[in-house]
Amino acid sequence: MSRQSDAFETRAIHAGQAPDASSGAVVTPITLATTFAQDAVGTHKGFEYARSANPTRTALETCLASLENARHGLAFASGLAAEDAILRTLDPGDHVIIPTDAYGGTFRLVAGVHERHGIAWTAVDLHDRGAIDAAWRDETRLVWIESPTNPALSIVDIEAVAKFARARGARVVVDNTFATPYLQQPLALGAHVAVHSSTKYLGGHSDVVGGFAAVDDAELAGELRFLQNAMGAVPSPFDCYLVLRGVKTLAVRMERHCANARAIVQMLREHDAVAAVLYPGLDDHPGHDVAARQMRDFGGMVSFLCARGEDAALDLVARTRLFTLAESLGAVESLIEHPARMTHASAEGSPLAVDRALIRLSVGIEAADDLVADLSQALDSVA
Ligand code: PLP
Repeated sequence: MSRQSDAFETRAIHAGQAPDASSGAVVTPITLATTFAQDAVGTHKGFEYARSANPTRTALETCLASLENARHGLAFASGLAAEDAILRTLDPGDHVIIPTDAYGGTFRLVAGVHERHGIAWTAVDLHDRGAIDAAWRDETRLVWIESPTNPALSIVDIEAVAKFARARGARVVVDNTFATPYLQQPLALGAHVAVHSSTKYLGGHSDVVGGFAAVDDAELAGELRFLQNAMGAVPSPFDCYLVLRGVKTLAVRMERHCANARAIVQMLREHDAVAAVLYPGLDDHPGHDVAARQMRDFGGMVSFLCARGEDAALDLVARTRLFTLAESLGAVESLIEHPARMTHASAEGSPLAVDRALIRLSVGIEAADDLVADLSQALDSVA
């Protein structure tokens, strides 16, 4: 078992993943058993029924909690299942502040599902302290942060918002999917929960859907553990294995994602077909200073606005050869998409609707020169 003081890269490979006690296998076994033998009623090795707990899932939860420097970790069947469990800790009548810039599915979950069950919400620009103040109600129990945001890559000052919300007795959740724990650790910045779509960088290979929540508070962890078991939106042992396998290379992948993103951003900045590049690593990005403070590097996601609007954007996404036109993000292969019609279509007509000229790139870990050349030829052909 690795020590918490080990470096991130070491914990990614060893935390929760000691060689198997019965065989010495250095890779955590995929335990398919749904039920576990008990010596006497209630006397067992920590596992009774696989929805409640499963050894492969426990290894994943231990590892990811360690990477978030959290005391507790809970794995779910998807990022949205993790988000749903967090929102279910609220009671009817409670009010949530959600960002005006966030993953469209988060908006759909809050507005389309939880609102029907009595949760009130306000979408607020979290960069504007006055707007948070104005939206605040006596019933506000939770502030939802995403940083960097999907798809506009804006940056929220997690520490400042967490301080503000904590002083008023509300919980703070940070969707850390874009940054990953390698680049940003929300609990250290004052958040109560760091939530992930592990479908993205944690899995890292576009072959598994999963979610994760990291918390320090034992009572909140207990509540989430109850919901995880009571609702049953748990990942399969094989899915847990895939995320565990992916996370072993998270640090090296993130270094390469960030380096490749920098090369792409440089080219985009100089191209006539591009009206604006949205990347927190740019000096003139409004969130640059905060990002430099709260992140280790600026990530592998890049968005930009096409100079000639939506038609040019739709044309462009059909012209890349290496960048695959597809939803999702955070894997080894580069992807390109049109958020307004794809990942964020569910936010159409809402405060979270996105610019129709916006293109989002998930920059993979292929050779940077090949990626730059591919995007350049596509941009040249629509320019
Ligand atoms: N949060 C962010 C930032 C996302 O991009 C996504 C999915 O794209 C989710 C949450 C939801 O995760 P999942 O698709 O695993 O349910």
